[in-house]
Amino acid sequence: MLVALLAVASASAQEPPPAPTPSCRSCADRGTLPCGKHGKDLGPEADAAVRLCSVAAECKACGGALAVDCRSCRNGPAEQALAARQQLVHDWLEQRRKAVDDTLGERSLLHLETTHCDLVFGLRALTVGKQKLDPHALMHLYGQRIESLREDFRTLFELTDADLPGRLRVYMFRDQKHHGVIGPRETGLGSASSIGLKQMGPEFVYSMWHDQRSLAADDALHRNIVHNVAHLLLSQMLPVQWIGNRSHGWIDEGLAHWFEDRTNGKCTNYCYEEILTMPGAGWKNGVWRPHVRKLLEDGGLPTFAQLSTRNTDQLTFPEHAAAFAWVDHLLTAHGGARFRDLVRALKAGQATRDALQAVYQLNPLTIEAPFQAWLREHYPLPH
Ligand SMILES: [Zn+2]
Ligand SMILES: [Zn+2]
Ligand SMILES: [Zn+2]
Ligand SMILES: [Zn+2]
Repeated sequence: MLVALLAVASASAQEPPPAPTPSCRSCADRGTLPCGKHGKDLGPEADAAVRLCSVAAECKACGGALAVDCRSCRNGPAEQALAARQQLVHDWLEQRRKAVDDTLGERSLLHLETTHCDLVFGLRALTVGKQKLDPHALMHLYGQRIESLREDFRTLFELTDADLPGRLRVYMFRDQKHHGVIGPRETGLGSASSIGLKQMGPEFVYSMWHDQRSLAADDALHRNIVHNVAHLLLSQMLPVQWIGNRSHGWIDEGLAHWFEDRTNGKCTNYCYEEILTMPGAGWKNGVWRPHVRKLLEDGGLPTFAQLSTRNTDQLTFPEHAAAFAWVDHLLTAHGGARFRDLVRALKAGQATRDALQAVYQLNPLTIEAPFQAWLREHYPLPH
């Protein structure tokens, strides 16, 4: 039996017969050619995470199919597939326009569908690094950034794809007017005067506008998206639950800050409306580690026992920074998988004391000494 199987295996491993010479040299008998209007090798549309793009959808040459019919040959099935793809792209864009643009009375927004996110985009061109990106390129960049944040989150907490069910919906508007209409409608809450609004279950939505007073440059805007999408992911991680209003604000905000800091070394976003509406309000220029250390040495660092009774919107500036430091400590010293287990226990309704004991074999008092020793080792004092 084994001999027979081996014989079959080696037979199937033989070289396939040489392919016949294609009868159409233009398309190698595929029946279509890549559309040339999207840049070299289809440009941003070739990104594996990109499913549908409104700019590509409006291409006059291909109608968003990203391929055009080969003029040198006839290929019925390929032509039918092309027409079907054009129809699908057309229907998608029309549905997006009806659902979003028409609410604003003008069809001016860009739309991108990636593997896990529906992004609606209204920002102007922006300089990123040394390059000025037009709105279309900028939208693709933010689509990539959201996908890569999700992937980082998934990897850090050792999650499967199924542990983050449902899609993310992100709306980025150029001015308050559009956010003021769409934000409250899509999140079901909040005032039109906010910079950003979130829904953290059962749907995962973030709507914001590009406030030039606090988010002018790309690095600040990037942190804003990372901070807020990190909130969505934390709530989305099974079991679906927002823990920021169950006295676990230190995890909810601490983790969002941790991802911000990881993005480009600063924490500048606070989920507290009154602070958000004061442009430029913040703590220590967003560079927190040395100032957390100083608070510790000065006796001003909030204790874990104090911190772990606060909701997200009750945290003061030093408590935001302490929350960041706690998350930084737990992730760095004990790893993502245990932090995930802590979050799951809290989402399931366990008391902080019991969850800490189960996951770290520590309680709200005994956890203090190793944390402080870790801070003294890893956080330098300010110069
Ligand atoms: Zn051809
Ligand atoms: Zn595109
Ligand atoms: Zn095209
Ligand atoms: Zn936040």
